Amino acid sequence: MIEIDRVSKSYGPYRVLKNCTTSVAKGEVVVVCGPSGSGKSTLIKCVNGLEPFDEGSIRVHGIEVGDPATDLPALRTRVGMVFQNFELFAHLSIIDNLTIAQEKVLLRSRDLARRKAMALLDRVGLADQAAKYPAQLSGGQQQRVAIARALAMDPIAMLFDEPTSALDPEMIAEVLDVMVGLAREGMTMICVTHEMGFARNVASRVIFIDGGEIVEDRPTDAFFSDVSNPRTKSFLGKIL
Ligand code: ATP
Ligand code: MG
Repeated sequence: MIEIDRVSKSYGPYRVLKNCTTSVAKGEVVVVCGPSGSGKSTLIKCVNGLEPFDEGSIRVHGIEVGDPATDLPALRTRVGMVFQNFELFAHLSIIDNLTIAQEKVLLRSRDLARRKAMALLDRVGLADQAAKYPAQLSGGQQQRVAIARALAMDPIAMLFDEPTSALDPEMIAEVLDVMVGLAREGMTMICVTHEMGFARNVASRVIFIDGGEIVEDRPTDAFFSDVSNPRTKSFLGKIL
């Protein structure tokens, strides 16, 4: 479903991604972890074309992301992305946050878009919040809205960039619960997160990035049970 092949990227002389290769099968959940500044966000933004890359190739569902002929806005509607800081449209109500792209991009009727939005809000436990504005919701609620908004586009895959790291501890679980539900339903997911309980629960593989390099890419059980690489060991020692 997602094939990342020898991808490198530099900002000026600084190489932020170095020859990264991995792939994510349909229905697979992969967790990406690594120190701050290691290139995690850059890597997943390359997957939906939010960041260009210099070398290598990325294919999503057969679409060549780096090909100048690829319609990146169209690709982005099919690959949902959830960010650390929610990034909801502050001036729109919750329901409108979920309907605007359905109507403007997918050209769904207002009625269909609203029905879909309400079903998704119900699914993330927020149907009663539809008329409110983002600032009136808690961080955990806003993040669940952001996930529902991405799902409204019927994505073929979902990318999560530290979706719980800006949340108070009591709100982390409500967001992770939604993500676990998605994983169990067979959504293809790349999740940048340091929530290792989530990784153990639903990820088939864990990738550890350090200094722009994929240092480890292993089945979840092996990743946690046999930590031999000193860089991984040092990192896990800090977060576990
Ligand atoms: P964090 O855990 O803090 O989110 P990260 O692993 O997601 O870190 P990235 O945001 O991918 O790391 O950044 C990787 C490196 O690229 C960092 O050193 C960062 O400073 C650098 N970088 C990111 N964006 C730019 C930019 N627009 N111009 C120059 N350098 C950048
Ligand atoms: Mg990041």
